[in-house]
Amino acid sequence: MADSPLDCDPLEGGPLEGGCQCGAVRYRVSAAASEIYHCHCSLCRKLHGAVFATWAVVPRGGLEVIEGEGALATFASSPGVRRRFCGGCGCHLFCEIDSDPNFDWFTPGTLDGGAHPGHGSEREQHIFVGSKAHWWEIRDGLKQYEGYPPAYGGAQ
Ligand SMILES: [Zn+2]
Ligand SMILES: [Zn+2]
Repeated sequence: MADSPLDCDPLEGGPLEGGCQCGAVRYRVSAAASEIYHCHCSLCRKLHGAVFATWAVVPRGGLEVIEGEGALATFASSPGVRRRFCGGCGCHLFCEIDSDPNFDWFTPGTLDGGAHPGHGSEREQHIFVGSKAHWWEIRDGLKQYEGYPPAYGGAQ
C-alpha cells in the first residue's frame, strides 16, 4: 500500500503461493515485490546451480511459510546472510539479510504456475554483473549493476 511505512503495494488478485519442487515447503506472499534481482554473483551461481539466480524482495511480514518450516535447511553464505532451502529437494527459497531487517528475499521462480510477483517492470535488474559467467551475454534492456544495486549501496 502506498501509505504503508514500507511503501509496498498489496498483490492485485490476492496472495500468491509457491513452494519447493518436492512439495515439503509451501509459502504465501501477500505483498507485491518491490524489486526483482537477477543475481550473477558466484554464491548464487554455485548455490542455485544456475547461471544466475532470480530474487524478489518483499517487506518482512509479506511472506510466510505455511507448510514445512521444519523441512527448511539454512546455510550462512556470508556473515549475516542466511540462505534457506528445502532439505529434501534442495530448492532454494529464501534469503535473510541481517543488514536489511525490513525485507525478505525469495525466489519468484518457485511461485506456483510461474506467477508474476507483482513488481513494476522498471524494478527488475541484473546485479553482480561483474561476477557473471563470461559466456553468458545479457540480451535484455534491464539495468545492470556491477555489484550491489543502489538500494544496497551499490553504484551503476
Ligand atoms: Zn522440497
Ligand atoms: Zn547472488
